[in-house]
Amino acid sequence: MKKTDFIKKVALVGTGFVGMSFAYALLNSGECDQLLLIDVNKEKAHGEAMDLNHGLPFAKRNMLIYDGEYSDCNDADIVVIAAGVNQKPGEDRISLLNRNLAVFKSIIEPIVSSGFEGIFLVATNPVDIMTRITLSLSGFDSRKVIGSGTTLDTARLRFLLGNYFSIDPRNVHAYVIGEHGDSEIVPWSQAYITTKSIFDVIEHSKGRFKEEDLQKIAIDVTGAAQEIIKAKSATYYGIGMALVRIVRAIFGDEKSALTASVMLNGQYGINGVYAGLPAVIGRNGVEDIVVLDLKDNEEKSFIKSCNFLKETAEKVIV
Ligand code: NAD
Repeated sequence: MKKTDFIKKVALVGTGFVGMSFAYALLNSGECDQLLLIDVNKEKAHGEAMDLNHGLPFAKRNMLIYDGEYSDCNDADIVVIAAGVNQKPGEDRISLLNRNLAVFKSIIEPIVSSGFEGIFLVATNPVDIMTRITLSLSGFDSRKVIGSGTTLDTARLRFLLGNYFSIDPRNVHAYVIGEHGDSEIVPWSQAYITTKSIFDVIEHSKGRFKEEDLQKIAIDVTGAAQEIIKAKSATYYGIGMALVRIVRAIFGDEKSALTASVMLNGQYGINGVYAGLPAVIGRNGVEDIVVLDLKDNEEKSFIKSCNFLKETAEKVIV
């Protein structure tokens, strides 16, 4: 199925909970013209394509949605990967690594062989390391290999802070950085409620808000996935929308700062590690990385998180 240059095509590998939440959000947002679904379970991909197609008469625009093969990725602009195993209750993301490495070995090579020259967007966990593995297996430029990183964690943080301070989460400017996982951190020195530093807001709140509550919010952000997995086995709507947000930044050449997982090239003295940091995303992928003015303890925690990712990745990447 050939397409012309102005047609925006997304290929999705992995039509499970995360993949299909992304696909459904993509259909509703109308962000692309063509959506290709691929899964090792071909019948599932086929059924999902049928089901989505039946929503088209109600959608805000038409789209071509179909299931296919890796060879169909040749003219895709973005390949989103949500294939592999997910966490069970109590299991951390890192324990998925070896199983998802095997999955990626079967996926990346045929995509590259198809002639695909677009942008890889990875959601599979442990996402920072799976993105690094995608870079190694594809041989692509690191600007064109992006992970969802801490975009979801940042959204969780903004939601909780929005609730706490009674403000629209879109007016909360705060980030989760580092690993999408247990070592992630919230640099509070960089957190703003509208235009005011979060510490100023607390100081002028006449005791309504307390600094110690921020720590509890950070713990709730890191623990959110486990809480949801315990309740309903998997998390998917939030990440589905986060992936659509990144796709929109790419297609719209938005140059939006999103806490994607990106390759560090000297920032904070770190090289060769994928971690979540505000990255400027546009049509060519990662256009810049925003270096935050971190406090000493925040920088130490961020470097520790990156070192953990580096050591873990080195065990599997040859
Ligand atoms: P799921 O089990 O519902 O779906 C996984 C899909 O991958 C299945 O349809 C399966 O058939 C397919 N698959 C497995 N092996 C494959 C292969 N070799 N080739 C092609 N397809 C293959 O799982 P899920 O809940 O959708 O989670 C998917 C991944 O996303 C997990 O690793 C999960 O941890 C991760 N996740 C990431 C975030 C994030 O913030 N990055 C959030 C939630 C979940």
